[in-house]
Amino acid sequence: MPDLFDLSRQQHYPEAALFIVATPIGNLADITLRALHVLSLVDRIAAEDTRNTQQMLTRYGIEKPTLAVHEHNEREAATRVIDYLRAGERVAYVSDAGTPGISDPGSRLVEAVRAAGLTVVPIPGASALVTALSVAGAWASGFTFVGFLPSKARQRVDALQALALSPHALVFYEAPHRVLDTVTALGETLGGERKLLIARELTKLHEALHVCTLAEGPVFLQSDPNRQRGEFVLVVEGHTVTEDASVNAHDSLLKTLLESLPVSAAVKLAATLTGASRNVLYARALELKGETEDDGVDGEQ
Ligand code: SAM
Repeated sequence: MPDLFDLSRQQHYPEAALFIVATPIGNLADITLRALHVLSLVDRIAAEDTRNTQQMLTRYGIEKPTLAVHEHNEREAATRVIDYLRAGERVAYVSDAGTPGISDPGSRLVEAVRAAGLTVVPIPGASALVTALSVAGAWASGFTFVGFLPSKARQRVDALQALALSPHALVFYEAPHRVLDTVTALGETLGGERKLLIARELTKLHEALHVCTLAEGPVFLQSDPNRQRGEFVLVVEGHTVTEDASVNAHDSLLKTLLESLPVSAAVKLAATLTGASRNVLYARALELKGETEDDGVDGEQ
């Protein structure tokens, strides 16, 4: 590879270091020059899936010994990586796609190598999260990365409840067989009015971006089977002042119900009566209960 930017001079690539190297999320042209330089420089490449990585390396004309470091062996494999580093080798780590450690293995390896007193060097590049956010719009300029929601319904509701009042946009990863269920659950728990960006197959042949509301999301996905194919990033607008106003509008109803009912029953009834999001009402009910209890404490002083 021509050293277009004199890469070896721009930064010293220390020996006995672990390089965390981002790789493309689809389009193989999205590798960085530094990533190619480092992958060519290292003595060994640790990879989430050595067969996938071998194919990728072949496309770039790089030949290196590989070793597997994946979700199920990350701690043990870290010991081997540390041995190679202590012997003075440079080792790169790559996940199957995108940036290691982002809903991917890599972070335990980073911790183990740092705990052993060795150097870790980030080599940045593609990530589906940042790629989707770059085309979301100003409403997603502050964000919380959630990644994959739990697959069990109860845990999913709990996770969303904890996020319902966050003012930041929420970013989710999702697989094709669950995307419809997830978008439906998001609408049910966060309310149908929030903006939603469905980013599918980013950087690939069938890349598709669609912005709609959470209520419109399931209809859009069901209107053409192709719309549920591929890999997805979902970006959902954060909790807004407008939502606040509509939630606060239900305060008196919630307060009355809370006087005689447990929180969950009061929220269920309030959601049925008002059509507002159950999660948002739940979070507000907890706030109102807190305020009432604080009032009581103040009163005693
Ligand atoms: N480490 C990766 C990153 O930096 O984005 C993420 C790996 S995670 C195991 C895989 C998930 O990322 C997919 O299920 C999908 O939600 C998202 N993803 C990865 N590539 C994508 C793409 N090209 N388009 C849309 N989403 C993608």
